Amino acid sequence: MSIFDKFSLHGKIAVVTGGNRSIGKAIAVGFAEAGAAVAIVARDETRNDETVAELRKLGVKATAVRADVSERADIANMVETVTRELGPIDVLVNNAGIGFHADALTMTDEEWQRVFAINLDAVWKVSQIVGQQMAARGTGSIINIGSISGLIVNRPQWHSPYGISKAAVHHLTKSLAAEWASKGIRVNAIAPGYVKTEIANTEYEDYRHYWRDEVPMQRYATPDEIAPIALMLASDASSFITGSILVADGGYTLW
Ligand code: NDP
Repeated sequence: MSIFDKFSLHGKIAVVTGGNRSIGKAIAVGFAEAGAAVAIVARDETRNDETVAELRKLGVKATAVRADVSERADIANMVETVTRELGPIDVLVNNAGIGFHADALTMTDEEWQRVFAINLDAVWKVSQIVGQQMAARGTGSIINIGSISGLIVNRPQWHSPYGISKAAVHHLTKSLAAEWASKGIRVNAIAPGYVKTEIANTEYEDYRHYWRDEVPMQRYATPDEIAPIALMLASDASSFITGSILVADGGYTLW
């Protein structure tokens, strides 16, 4: 077995939430290039269809499930559909997430709850439901997309629930890694720095001093720089790694 074989996902079934654009799409494409059958899970059906067509062009089986990851019924239906169409799930990437800026003094409970419903509760629910299937088979790799916002407080924008939710995702990652190691399930997270995507498209220029110029590497990441990290964590290349929060931030959190 060569070192490259350890990165192969041939014969594996992978699910990527929020896989129809940006970081999630780059991961889905990367997994397909590595040989996995890929299911993407998101709400926009036009983008879902376009992405599935791209994945199939890479010569793998692919499907999209329209689902809101915060809804338990949608998740259960997703697992049933993926299992029926592709097979049991080997790799889960909890990537779907939202973020917006709001001051702590005036933020509403609804805004707080919306962030937590998708960034944290959904990661818990999807991990639990997919984890039950993985535990029954004694194998699986779960990758959560955390953030540097879970490690430091961003500036100049305020978005406390976002950072708090990502810090919780990091601890969820460690908790499940410890609890499920004996069941053959590895659980890790990636904590990206600023990656130029749609989540805050206009703000990259507004805040370029803080978000780009003050980064040791003096630039943003692109989604295709996150995908290979997810591939390492998904594959046997990381067979002894569990409970890790892998920081990919161009050095942002160094100072
Ligand atoms: P985007 O906003 O570009 O994409 C978000 C994805 O999540 C879309 O595919 C969207 O699809 C999906 N999604 C959102 N809400 C739901 C939902 N309720 N149910 C199902 N799918 C949903 O985000 P990014 O690619 O920028 O971010 C991806 C992840 O990376 C997030 O967790 C984010 O917090 C994290 N991250 C991003 C960074 C960045 O700088 N961009 C930095 C650090 C972390 P649809 O709308 O069709 O449902």
